[in-house]
Amino acid sequence: MTTSTVVAGASGGCLVIDPAVTVADLAALATELGELGLRPAVGWSTHPHWDHVIWSAALGNPPRYAAPAAVTLAETERDAIREWVRKSVPGHDLSLVGQLTALDAPVIPWDGPQARLIVHDGHAPGHGAVFLPDSGVLVAGDMCSDLEIPLLDTVADDPLGDYRTGLERLASVPGVRQVVPGHGHVGDASEFQRRLAADFAYLDTLALGKPFSDPRLEDGPDWMRTTHEEQVRYYQGPA
Ligand SMILES: [Zn+2]
Repeated sequence: MTTSTVVAGASGGCLVIDPAVTVADLAALATELGELGLRPAVGWSTHPHWDHVIWSAALGNPPRYAAPAAVTLAETERDAIREWVRKSVPGHDLSLVGQLTALDAPVIPWDGPQARLIVHDGHAPGHGAVFLPDSGVLVAGDMCSDLEIPLLDTVADDPLGDYRTGLERLASVPGVRQVVPGHGHVGDASEFQRRLAADFAYLDTLALGKPFSDPRLEDGPDWMRTTHEEQVRYYQGPA
């Protein structure tokens, strides 16, 4: 349930997606990259939640991008996001948290392996998954997890519709051989299909507006059960 970090690039400059999460983790990441002869040339944050917008001076000062709607939220919620980081993983340089530049483009501009962007709402505004076609890796952000239920952005106008659209966009990416969720295990192509089906089924059941459970809740943390109950209540309507 920690936050996945993905690095792309064979030598020289590399792309760093969602570096996370503790001060020690980021220090170890910087050391490991150095040992591999890599230095961050560009950063990407999949979405504007606190555990996906952290950075460290040890990673240098490359452009750090996110989708425009994600950057807008990171800016309007800056103080709250930094407070979450301060409380949850103390010791980070908070001035680097959420320092993102809006990128409205089909691919991340850099000279390493092609990194296609799949931007949608649903979990958070401007959620940007990254597909690396050379390796068939889909960096799914907080979607397609084997451990987390779909977590909806319930302040949006159409949370279910947004989430469905997001899943449909991810499902239509051709050539996915590995899926990397922000929290959970890496899965192969058939596991990717299983997770898409499980998440569509969760949304369909949620829309019925009746209490239900999901296998991922059984061993999940208390906060996830609470969030699930809130999502159920949201669609239950007046009794
Ligand atoms: Zn998130």
